[in-house]
Amino acid sequence: MSDARPGHPALQVRALNKSFGTFKVLTDIDLSVDQSEMVFVLGPSGSGKSTMLRCCNRLEEPDSGEILVGGAPLTGSGVNLNAMRQRIGMVFQSFNLYPHLTALGNVTLALRRVQKLPRETAEAAAREALDRVGLADRAGHHPAQLSGGQQQRVAIARALALRPEVMLFDEPTSALDPELVGDVLAVMRDVKAQGMTMLVVSHEMKFARDAADRVIFMDGGRIVEQGTPEQVFGAPREARTRAFLGRLH
Ligand code: ADP
Ligand code: MG
Repeated sequence: MSDARPGHPALQVRALNKSFGTFKVLTDIDLSVDQSEMVFVLGPSGSGKSTMLRCCNRLEEPDSGEILVGGAPLTGSGVNLNAMRQRIGMVFQSFNLYPHLTALGNVTLALRRVQKLPRETAEAAAREALDRVGLADRAGHHPAQLSGGQQQRVAIARALALRPEVMLFDEPTSALDPELVGDVLAVMRDVKAQGMTMLVVSHEMKFARDAADRVIFMDGGRIVEQGTPEQVFGAPREARTRAFLGRLH
């Protein structure tokens, strides 16, 4: 199980570099997220945020550098990638639910496939996860019968059910109508309150101010600046951060 402890890095990214062809997307990314910390990643479109997240569970293959989860390497030869990936949950902008399965079916399938659980055990764990995101009463609904916010909460439940040590969120509310954003953010806040380690790409600035422990600003594939939300939003040190934040208002 988890070998991470409070005050210790749950996720470490060391000297990560990534190119697509001749285009350098990520340059010397160093990042450490402590157990139970919520770190927000901001930056303009194309700055490499999604690629960085995808490298963290090797959906993209880093060119060089190291990724460690709970101190154990995810990169390098001899890594059991499936076992390691179970330790990192990911939630995408597009919910990626199976339309022909119910909410319960979507979460159960992940548990059966990834953890090879028997149906009854998987269903019990799936119901518990749906309950954690406030959707116990929607277990039998298909995605088309759920709002976008509810679909994203099913996707969060699917990730939670696998009991990851770290969760990555890539613009989890960007595809939602404004009135549905709050419910998803409330679930994320609950997940954090329960001690989850979270690395979140999002432009929800108010949420970042309220909930993030640390904010990172990326530009051109580099981490340009980081600090507490008070520092980064209140007194950004870098001109590029100021320009980016200025454009959001
Ligand atoms: P962000 O999430 O910050 O908007 P991305 O990580 O998605 O940025 O993309 C960073 C840059 O890498 C962009 O210029 C994008 O076009 C490019 N890119 C992303 N994925 C690929 C890919 N699979 N092949 C080629 N270029 C890509
Ligand atoms: Mg992106």
